[in-house]
Amino acid sequence: MNQLLQLPFFSDADRALARGLQASAASHQWLNPEQGDDRAALKSALQTLAQWGTLKLATTQPWRLTSMALAREVLAYHAGIADLALAMQGLGALPLLLGGSPAQQALLPGAAAGEHCLAFAITEPDAGSDLSRIALVARRERGDYVLEGVKHLVSNVGTATHYVTFARTSAGGRGITAFVVPADSPGLRLAPQVPISPHPLGRMDFLGVRLPESSRIGAEGDGMKLALATLGRMRVTVAAAANGFARRALDEALAYARRRELFGATLAEKPLAQALLAEMRARLDASQLLTYRAAWEFDQGRERIPLEAAIAKWQATENAQWIIDKALQLAGGQGVLQGSVFERLYREIRPLRIYEGASEVQQLVIAGEMLKEPTRE
Ligand SMILES: Cc1cc2nc3c(=O)[nH]c(=O)nc-3n(C[C@H](O)[C@H](O)[C@H](O)COP(=O)(O)OP(=O)(O)OC[C@H]3O[C@@H](n4cnc5c(N)ncnc54)[C@H](O)[C@@H]3O)c2cc1C
Repeated sequence: MNQLLQLPFFSDADRALARGLQASAASHQWLNPEQGDDRAALKSALQTLAQWGTLKLATTQPWRLTSMALAREVLAYHAGIADLALAMQGLGALPLLLGGSPAQQALLPGAAAGEHCLAFAITEPDAGSDLSRIALVARRERGDYVLEGVKHLVSNVGTATHYVTFARTSAGGRGITAFVVPADSPGLRLAPQVPISPHPLGRMDFLGVRLPESSRIGAEGDGMKLALATLGRMRVTVAAAANGFARRALDEALAYARRRELFGATLAEKPLAQALLAEMRARLDASQLLTYRAAWEFDQGRERIPLEAAIAKWQATENAQWIIDKALQLAGGQGVLQGSVFERLYREIRPLRIYEGASEVQQLVIAGEMLKEPTRE
């Protein structure tokens, strides 16, 4: 279990949450998305997390970043698909919690119970890091909105019941508006896209999807604010998930190094292996501390934590990639065999350096925030 739980970042309730979830997640038989149907695996994980009450962390107020971060770290350690199930409920729920009408917020108990599966659709083929390029249009027609355009690389395509979708209602930065789009909306065509590590992902074609005005979240033009507030929080939990994957890789590498014998000793006794293990541990501790700091700052009541969130996301995802690569190196040829925990983690970690703001985007945020600060004498 995570040795840093003793630190003052956490309340006793946080520690109990992490320990309880750790015990449940370790003994549960998760459906493996690698061995068949990733959509079935996601739905099954969602039901399990609903039964355990874990989805409430993502879908109810008070929305605490520390709890979400701990839960994602624990779930990523055991089952990436379970981490995804929790993360997507959070991404879909936050815009509703922050700006939804009472009728829209009435979806949230169903999301906590796993009856509704949420998705967050913002990326388009020509608009990823640069969200000012969003082109999916929502035009007014006889009191309704009609959506035309494309989203792609959207997690939970094919499993979601509701897609929180960001569309353009007018030109310019204030022209983005968020909508709740039911999966069975006429004119919505879904097609799977297959990432390197199986999880439900896909493209959405909006072929004149007609929505009532009550589908709009907040006012026209509120969409970018809602998207950035959601991503600003969830980014810290991406860092936490990266730490979970990395911690698993380090534990597996340590166990392997202790039992593997070569050149008259165990691998763990070899100085070069020890140097690697030491650096893996130092990078992991640094990543966890940065993540817990960002979550703690937010839970203390700071609405915006762009600097802390960007540092945590950038460092944790880059360090996790490095740690997992070195863990696989220590495991040797067996590490690259399909079905090995090392090759699974090696594929699983890769998208985290890209989604919810690529590493380069985080670097720009950090520099931008630093440059706003007054010069220190
Ligand atoms: C597995 C997976 C799941 C995803 N899930 C979702 C989802 O649920 N919902 C959703 O809406 N989207 C989702 N995405 C999409 C994701 O958010 C985008 O891929 C991401 O925002 C990057 O956008 P892009 O792919 O268009 O890359 P681009 O914006 O074209 O960027 C390409 C690369 O350019 C670099 N870069 C970016 N900006 C700069 C800069 N200013 N200076 C220098 N270099 C830069 C980065 O290395 C980046 O990776 C998912 C993606 C993946 C891989």
